[in-house]
Amino acid sequence: KIELRHIYKTFQQDEVIKDLNLMIEDGSFTVLVGPSGCGKSTTLRMIAGLDRQTSGDILIDDRNVNNTAPGLRDVAMVFQNYALYPTMNVRENIEFGLKNRKVPKKEREALIQDICEIVGLTPYLKKKPEMLSGGQRQRVALARAMVKKPKVFILDEPLSNLDAKLRNQMRTELIQLHKRLGTTFVYVTHDQVEAMSMGDRIVIMNQGVIQQAASPDVLYHDPDNQFAAQFIGTPA
Ligand code: ATP
Ligand code: MG
Repeated sequence: KIELRHIYKTFQQDEVIKDLNLMIEDGSFTVLVGPSGCGKSTTLRMIAGLDRQTSGDILIDDRNVNNTAPGLRDVAMVFQNYALYPTMNVRENIEFGLKNRKVPKKEREALIQDICEIVGLTPYLKKKPEMLSGGQRQRVALARAMVKKPKVFILDEPLSNLDAKLRNQMRTELIQLHKRLGTTFVYVTHDQVEAMSMGDRIVIMNQGVIQQAASPDVLYHDPDNQFAAQFIGTPA
């Protein structure tokens, strides 16, 4: 599990995260949702260790990771822009991190085969990213995170570059993937419909403050405040 305790983050003079407290249970599909600029990506980056909180503690499995490098946190992040290597083909993109971690060739091949089968990339292993569709690129980014077999997947608006139809399809695929892997997913979107349809726990943020963290059902029927109610669209 991941625990954020009294997290504050200030950029220059600007306090963008204010006393954020959150517990993310193992195996949950937690969605952070809120308007642009409310601090979702910043929160994810601090969990992944790509950014350092100004104060407060982050614990992963009861271990304080404030000073733990991103590579040692057992989390894998999938970015909005995928960040694929343009000169490498699909296989090489997925294999790169494994080679860096000196995973033996046999093991690499088995992993890549298994995971590409799961995400439907097997026919595209030799293609370069420029030859792939948006959805296929998204799957490569996902596969690259999956081969690390992390305890936690952190996904920052991973579907925002896709058209509506593909986005719907990928939502379903991600929900199935979460079920199948049993891994913790921490997912960011600014789309409340996406949040409510995917998460088992929704964290509504506004201006660096958590407004409510609850199941979709509780949020819908029992919002804590005006902001949560309006954001989710609970009928008055
Ligand atoms: P979006 O939905 O648009 O992606 P977000 O909720 O992910 O928004 P963040 O990227 O976390 O928002 O940004 C939160 C606030 O922190 C914003 O006001 C942003 O301008 C500010 N911010 C983020 N990164 C930096 C930075 N490196 N330097 C200065 N300010 C930053
Ligand atoms: Mg963001």
